[in-house]
Amino acid sequence: MRITLIEDEKQLANIVKKGLEEEGYSVDAAHDGEEGLYMVENYPSDVVILDIMLPLLDGISILSSMRKKGIKTPVLLLTARDTITDKIKGLDSGADDYLTKPFKFGELLARIRALIRRKADIKDTVIRIGDLEINTTNREIKRGGKTIQLSTKEYAMLQYMAYNKDKIVSRTDLIEHIYDENFDANSNVLDVYINFLRNKIDKGFKKKLIHTVRGAGYILKGSEE
Ligand code: CA
Repeated sequence: MRITLIEDEKQLANIVKKGLEEEGYSVDAAHDGEEGLYMVENYPSDVVILDIMLPLLDGISILSSMRKKGIKTPVLLLTARDTITDKIKGLDSGADDYLTKPFKFGELLARIRALIRRKADIKDTVIRIGDLEINTTNREIKRGGKTIQLSTKEYAMLQYMAYNKDKIVSRTDLIEHIYDENFDANSNVLDVYINFLRNKIDKGFKKKLIHTVRGAGYILKGSEE
């Protein structure tokens, strides 16, 4: 999953970016409102973390502008003051949630996961595909009851496919949602990771869960139709 982080306090932004990347998210960070607006309007993103007080353009203006353009990406507002006015204004402008600074990183993560679940219309924190279980809270993967260890990037790829289970996920979707703007789309990294993932998820199992759809992409599904 890919996150756009718009926060002008560089130190906080760096800590959050690093923490999110350790959790397997890819992060595009902007440090002022204009750069932030450009990013939300031009880069794909699964969640936008948006500070309200920003240089050049404030968070509420960014939010209104993106909603006006029909960009429905979930937005988590960061408010510096615990004032009701900011929260009401934010929610009324189309924010999905807000967090008051200072916040605990664990709470930020939980809110991001909730927004991703809501967007994917998945209620359970454990996603099941056949006998594969993906615990999106602690990132534990099991198949047939046995734990599978995945690298951060492999997890990110599997998680994206799981939130879109039974749907075809194109190579572009994968590249756009698990890498940030610095990814070289011409490299064969994606094929390498798909192979890693297949070896860990499907190898040794009679029933394959990761399927290639020729000319279209991949699909993660547990049932044949
Ligand atoms: Ca700020």
